[in-house]
Amino acid sequence: KVKTRFAPSPTGYLHVGGARTALYSWLYARHAKGTFVLRIEDTDLERSTPEAIDAIIEGMNWLDLSWDEGPYYQTKRFDRYNQVIDQMISKGTAYRCYCSKERLEKLREEQMAKGEKTRYDGHCRCDATQKAHHDNEPHVVRFANPTDGVVIFKDLIRGPIEIANKELDDLIIRRTDGSPTYNFCVVVDDWDMEITHVIRGEDHINNTPRQINILKALDAPLPQYGHVSMILGDDGQKLSKRHGAVGVMQYRDDGYLPEALLNYLVRLGWSHGDQEIFSIPEMVEYFTLEDVSRSASAFNTEKLLWLNHHYINQLDADYVAQHLMWHMNQQGYNLANGPDLITIVKLYGERSKTLKEMAENCAYCYQDFSEFDADAAKKHLRLVAKAPLELIKAKLTAIGELDWQTTIIHHAIQSTADELEVGMGKVGMPLRVAVTGMGQSPSVDATIQAIGKARTLSRIDQALT
Ligand code: GLU
Repeated sequence: KVKTRFAPSPTGYLHVGGARTALYSWLYARHAKGTFVLRIEDTDLERSTPEAIDAIIEGMNWLDLSWDEGPYYQTKRFDRYNQVIDQMISKGTAYRCYCSKERLEKLREEQMAKGEKTRYDGHCRCDATQKAHHDNEPHVVRFANPTDGVVIFKDLIRGPIEIANKELDDLIIRRTDGSPTYNFCVVVDDWDMEITHVIRGEDHINNTPRQINILKALDAPLPQYGHVSMILGDDGQKLSKRHGAVGVMQYRDDGYLPEALLNYLVRLGWSHGDQEIFSIPEMVEYFTLEDVSRSASAFNTEKLLWLNHHYINQLDADYVAQHLMWHMNQQGYNLANGPDLITIVKLYGERSKTLKEMAENCAYCYQDFSEFDADAAKKHLRLVAKAPLELIKAKLTAIGELDWQTTIIHHAIQSTADELEVGMGKVGMPLRVAVTGMGQSPSVDATIQAIGKARTLSRIDQALT
């Protein structure tokens, strides 16, 4: 049975690269009707923070990448890691290393002078040294890596990978202070948690042969590995803060829907024919690692915006409205002061690429204003507008509260234009600028329907004075 995990180190927020890795692991598990585990790799006590743990979980929740097990915390499993290390020492697959800093430093310098790769020379890896020292002396524990042969594994994304054991060091698995090291904890976790597929960033590819050797020494079953390529910024450099929003929650703040970000991330490095739009069930159905690209993918904000616009208009308006609510609150609107948010989504969806933009654009539906957009006012309000505004005001005043409907309002505008023998625009535009303060808005009849009668009339008065 398939079991995958997402294993972030909590040293910062959930960034898009991590989110994509999480998504691929999650999809792989969901596709196979398997289990998805969340594991917090917080062994680096100096760099891990509780805020980062919260931020990662918040990001996973916002994206709705639900886990079946966990979150597990490595810091709660130190006893287990140490137990396994002690067993390995008694079996001889790990050994205590008493080498001093000075000796290691000298070794390094000698190897560098000879132009060799710097690596531990296995000095303590013999019974004689082990016997010459006492356990109480300061020491680290090293894994006794096989000295010959090769490690071969078939990466599920990158194909066969082979590395000679003589390239690999006797890795430190427990530090002098008694704490187990990162690579070792990962191995014990993947083993104990019965992970079948390790899907992670390609920055971990060098760890894989070492981890496989340790698993073999433990007689543990080997998971399969798939290493996902990096994400680059649109300038071809590794994606970083310089490229703007990289934390997942920043995308929420910027007005993206989780569906859009997930759709964007799934396509960033994976394809299914030439399909671009994927609902979550479709992603689950079609996702395979074979179709994940080996080359790095470049982040393209335009495409993300395009997807976001698509989802704003495609998903249920009341669902979109729930997400919009967050932005409205963020921007300090009093929601009781204007139309319901479903109306806003329907009215502004077409012209909004983000929910943040939508919340900004509909300000005049909730708040009065005293300034008009200068260009719009110059063009549509001054001089020409008095007659049309007065006549439309009279007609709108005559509409009863219950008849305050888009079609009836439309009719009022139409008849005003007819009576004045001008085009609809000569009435519609001044009216729009009067009630919105701007030269652009959704269709003017629907907009003033949403704004309401009393406000529409008082704003026409404001424009006339
Ligand atoms: N904790 C590692 C990271 O955040 C991931 C390790 C793994 O997936 O094996 O980069």
